[in-house]
Amino acid sequence: MIMDSLRLAPVGSVFPKIACSRCGDDSRRWDRIAGKSYCPSCIELLALGEAAPLIEKTERRRCAVCHHQGTLRYLTFPLHSRRPVEMDLCAEHLRALLGRRLGPHAYEQLRRQLHALGLETRELFLLHEAFYDAQGRALQPAGDWDY
Ligand SMILES: [Zn+2]
Ligand SMILES: [Zn+2]
Repeated sequence: MIMDSLRLAPVGSVFPKIACSRCGDDSRRWDRIAGKSYCPSCIELLALGEAAPLIEKTERRRCAVCHHQGTLRYLTFPLHSRRPVEMDLCAEHLRALLGRRLGPHAYEQLRRQLHALGLETRELFLLHEAFYDAQGRALQPAGDWDY
């Protein structure tokens, strides 16, 4: 069975710089959720529940973590690659990814699939080693300021 819930964006796709759909910042290429652009500050506000929630129609695809059907597409530009990575995630795992609070099992699922594409988790901002230790334990979940 071909697992394509996490994949490189198709060759030849054009990804113009699109301003953040929430604040209009257009200084860089931002992550996209269901085709809309979000800068890191606006993702943080979403993760903290301080921004208007995402209301998007789900696609009939399977979550890259739990295989649940009904997903939103998350696209991100890895650090050293010009070709973005797309992943299909259910609402729960999209929230956990954005909030940097994936559990070790979920983190491992994504790490393994990225590895199959020749990518390391540290090349993806939201999976960076500052946010997870080697066992996939969340180190800095959004909103968790009580150290
Ligand atoms: Zn923004
Ligand atoms: Zn899921």
